[in-house]
Amino acid sequence: MTALLTITAPPSWSAMPSGRSWCVCGYERHAIGRAATLQLIENHTAHRDHCPLLAPVEGRTAA
Ligand SMILES: [Zn+2]
Repeated sequence: MTALLTITAPPSWSAMPSGRSWCVCGYERHAIGRAATLQLIENHTAHRDHCPLLAPVEGRTAA
């Protein structure tokens, strides 16, 4: 289990979608509403690149 992104998007256009983003490092966000949920997805995707626990800990091969 690493990072988890859960989005609930009702089929009804007027219904409020909501989302929850969770990560092993303690990162957790909630979003309600379409715009906020889209932002949540963006933040979650960005977090995967910056997360200290998810980032690949490879030794940099300095030539
Ligand atoms: Zn994280």
